Amino acid sequence: MVPTFPANASLSDAPDLFKSESHALEKARLIHASADTDAQQCHQALGELIGHYERLMRETRRLIGRSDRAEREMQALTQELQYRATHDALTNVLNRSAVIERTVKALRADRAVMILLDIDDFKKINDDFGHPVGDAVIRGIVDCLRQIVGDQGVIGRVGGEEFTVLLPGQDLDDALHLAEKMREAIGNHAFAAPVNRRITASFGLSSNAVRTDFDTAYGLADAALYEAKRGGRNRVEFAAAQKPC
Ligand code: GH3
Ligand code: MG
Ligand code: MG
Repeated sequence: MVPTFPANASLSDAPDLFKSESHALEKARLIHASADTDAQQCHQALGELIGHYERLMRETRRLIGRSDRAEREMQALTQELQYRATHDALTNVLNRSAVIERTVKALRADRAVMILLDIDDFKKINDDFGHPVGDAVIRGIVDCLRQIVGDQGVIGRVGGEEFTVLLPGQDLDDALHLAEKMREAIGNHAFAAPVNRRITASFGLSSNAVRTDFDTAYGLADAALYEAKRGGRNRVEFAAAQKPC
C-alpha cells in the first residue's frame, strides 16, 4: 500500500530521521564556511562528525546484512513454492500440469515415448486395508519406478493411481524393455504389512515423433493402457508411432 500524507501536511512535517546527524553536519558547514573558527571548535565539530559517520556505517552494514538475509529467504521461499506447484505432495514426482509442460517441451525438441501406467485393482487395496495403506502402496510403486527409470526419464502422477514416465529421445523398443522392467519390479515388490498380496500395474505406451502434441501422445498411451487392462492387466501394450502434425 502506498503511504499517504494528511491533506494539510507538508513534507517538512515528516519526522527527520537524521536530526542529530543533520545538526552536526550543519554545525560543521558553518565552521567550514567561517574564516575565524579556532582549532578547538574545528576539533569538536570533526569529532561529532566522526561519531555520526561511524554510527551510520554500522547501521548501514546491519541493514545490508538484514536485506541480504531477506533476499535469501525470499529466494528459498520462491523455490519451495515453485516445487510445490509442480510436484505431487504424496510422491514428490511431477504433478499433472508439470507433466504436460515437460512433455510439450520435450516433444518440441525431439521424439519421445510416453508410458502411462495404472495400478491394477487398486480400489480393493483401499477397501481391504484402508486409505493410508493405499497411500503407502502408491509411494512404493513410485519407488519401484524410480529405481528402473533413473535419469532416463521423468516420472509424473497424472491421477490418483495413474502415472506417466516420459522418455525423451527414446525409441519404442528400448522403452518397451524399460516398461517390462517396471512391470516386473512392481509385481515382484514385497509391500509392507498388512499388504499380503502381489500388486501389479498395467502399462500403455505411445511412441511420438517430434512436434506431436500432448493430447495425442497421452491419448494414444491411454488407449494402449485400456488395451492392457482389457487384455487381463499386468501387461504392457503400445500404440504405433504417429506422424507429426
Ligand atoms: P483397474 O485395475 O481397472 O485400474 O481397477 P482399480 O480398482 O485400480 O481402478 P479404480 O479407478 O476403480 O480405482 C482407483 C482407486 O484409486 C479409487 C480411488 O479411491 C483410489 N485413489 C485415488 N487416489 C488415491 C490416493 O491418493 N490415495 C489412495 N489411497 N487411493 C486413491
Ligand atoms: Mg487402477
Ligand atoms: Mg485409474
